[in-house]
Amino acid sequence: MEHIEIPLLALRGLTVFPHMTINFDIGRDISLASLEEAMASDQKLILVTQIDPNVENPTLEDLYEVGTIVKVKQMLRMPGDTVRVLVEGLNRATVKELLQDDPFFKVSVEEYVREQDDVTTTQEALMRTVNEAFEEYVHLSNRISAETLLSIAVVKDPDHLTDLIAANALYKQEDKQEILEIFDISERLERLIVMMGRENEILRIEQSISHRVRDQVDRMQKEHYLNEQIKAIQSELGQDIENDVEEFKTRIDELPISDDVKEKIVREITRLSRLPQGSPEVAVLRTWLEWIMELPWSVETETNLDLKNAANILDEDHFGLRKVKERIIEYLAVCKLTNQLKGPILCFVGTPGVGKTSIARSIARATGRKFVRMSLGGVRDEAEIRGHRRTYVGAIPGRIIHNIKQAGSSNPVFLFDEIDKMSNDFRGDPASAMLEVLDAEQNSAFTDHYLEIPFDLSKVMFLATANSIDGIPAPLMDRMEMIHISGYTEEEKISITKRHLIDKQVRQHGIEPGVLHISDNTIKSIIKGYTREAGVRNLEREIANICRKSAREIVEKNKKTLHVTASNLERYLGVRRFKEDAANKENEIGLVTGLAWTAVGGVTLSIEVNIMPGSGKLQLTGQLGEVMQESAKAALSYIRASSARLGINENFYEKIDIHIHIPEGATPKDGPSAGITMATALFSAIKKQPVRSDVAMTGEITLRGRVLPIGGLKEKILAAHRVGIKQVLIPQENEKDIMEIPDNVKRKIKITTVSTLDDVLKIAMA
Ligand code: ADP
Repeated sequence: MEHIEIPLLALRGLTVFPHMTINFDIGRDISLASLEEAMASDQKLILVTQIDPNVENPTLEDLYEVGTIVKVKQMLRMPGDTVRVLVEGLNRATVKELLQDDPFFKVSVEEYVREQDDVTTTQEALMRTVNEAFEEYVHLSNRISAETLLSIAVVKDPDHLTDLIAANALYKQEDKQEILEIFDISERLERLIVMMGRENEILRIEQSISHRVRDQVDRMQKEHYLNEQIKAIQSELGQDIENDVEEFKTRIDELPISDDVKEKIVREITRLSRLPQGSPEVAVLRTWLEWIMELPWSVETETNLDLKNAANILDEDHFGLRKVKERIIEYLAVCKLTNQLKGPILCFVGTPGVGKTSIARSIARATGRKFVRMSLGGVRDEAEIRGHRRTYVGAIPGRIIHNIKQAGSSNPVFLFDEIDKMSNDFRGDPASAMLEVLDAEQNSAFTDHYLEIPFDLSKVMFLATANSIDGIPAPLMDRMEMIHISGYTEEEKISITKRHLIDKQVRQHGIEPGVLHISDNTIKSIIKGYTREAGVRNLEREIANICRKSAREIVEKNKKTLHVTASNLERYLGVRRFKEDAANKENEIGLVTGLAWTAVGGVTLSIEVNIMPGSGKLQLTGQLGEVMQESAKAALSYIRASSARLGINENFYEKIDIHIHIPEGATPKDGPSAGITMATALFSAIKKQPVRSDVAMTGEITLRGRVLPIGGLKEKILAAHRVGIKQVLIPQENEKDIMEIPDNVKRKIKITTVSTLDDVLKIAMA
């Protein structure tokens, strides 16, 4: 302890500790006088804090007893008579006696100079606790700068440490003062630990309060924001539940549906009115209700049952198709008499482009009904037909209801296109759903899974199309009447083109009538050089191409008339795509012309057989299907079995290999109808006897050499006609189909019926 006399400076709201360097401003005269006194001697003064910072002219009673002796390091005069000083804390001191109070305070003090003692273990432990508490404080408060943190971290002396932490972390002036007044290090450490603990506790509470407040604010903000968004979306969609509910109710009232169905719908409307705004169910329910409102419950177009008018319209739209048109008129006549649509569904069967879809469209026009078409190609899910249940996310009605809505009437002509292309898998059998749709007994209450309320389909006129009857599910087949539409001859195609296709395309391309001229010869060249089909779809497409190019010429070159001729055709359609199918020119060994019926209609097929030395192997190439391969084996077996009668060495096959090939290997071929053709080719190759090149044939062969009937006769004969064949051999049992073949073809081709392979060979071998 040392007694010294020293000027005193009263501090307001600030506690200065030893070891600490700090700057503050001095403004009071009495304080400035103290400072001047200090500067005049050894620059030291004692800083003592006022108990009440608001006292302007304190006396000694207004000050704490313990203060800190500091050394003034720097002073700076500031504007307005204040002085900023930088001081460094030296030692604690207790004020003992007032020596003078004018012009400045001078006091005698007891300075406490600490000797550097060794740090005891207890102190060490206490220091650690203090440090931990301070670390937590730093973490919680975020108020300590990185430099301060660093400067405290390096301090090893407990005296120094407590003062630094107290100065930086204690909040209340009383606490700081209390620490300043504790001279004993251990005691000071302990006291500081208690204070820091309280300080941290307060910070934690503060923090949780601030989190709570922030969470609350966040939540409120979020709710507000979302509500605003919902409102915006709803107003964008024009959704206002209450108005809608009222509107739905009045509209339901007006719908021509039974009362119990109405009741069900009203229940749903009531549910809608109770749903909270923004519930996802609102949209689901609303969509459902809109679907119901928009269905043409009782909207019917007036059906025209004037048969004469219908016949005229059918003739207007389509060339030929006499049998088809007759059957349609009969059908309409029955409808008229019975006043309902009971009876089989008409199904048009034929290769693409023969006019199945367009004849259905024509029926709609003839009867004054709307027309809708639904393709069943690739449909394998029952839900596509009947819809998904409403509980599915994003559920919608099936395609039947979709199309009815689109038609806008409850009695349209409804065409199921490609009913043979439907397939079924694990998702359910679409055919069974179709059965219900097509069944006159059931379809008056057809229930879509989504709508859940029945819709009357009994006034819909259903029609169907298929490329072939093979793929049509059997139960559906029972309900339908098949109307076959075969391919067209070249003459028929020319007539169709002249009477329908050109006019139609010219109109669609905005070309004036009489501007574009396409001669018969040109049409023939288009058919031969650019299309290979039983129908006229590609032919129509080529005509459209010509119209497009012509339209351009008319606009760009201001042409008044245009003539498309066989010689300038390539300018419009590019180079010819197909060479003319030509029959084999020479009679050859092992080469026979067969006839096949494919997706593009009838085609001719060259069947080649080669014999080479070997050991009795049979090789088949050219992408032959299983049935065709079996048919080849049957043909060979028959020839082996009948070798004696056919004049062939009995064991001929032992020393040879046989290779049957059908060129154009890229196209898969199948079916039994090449049986007699292969047998003939085999016989010719084995016997080394040529076959007539102007003969073509078709027919299945049995092991006994009988010839069985085949399908697609008309198409096959037309194909033979196209390549200039003179005579065609057909199975006896197909004789009845000869009727269908146009007379002009029959005049040019000799059609001979055969019942055994012997008949065939008699005619075919040269
Ligand atoms: P499909 O449904 O059989 O595949 P489309 O009905 O689509 O065939 O017929 C293709 C085009 O050929 C249509 O533009 C159609 O009007 C026309 N067409 C087909 N056959 C005839 C015909 N006999 N008379 C007039 N146009 C026809």
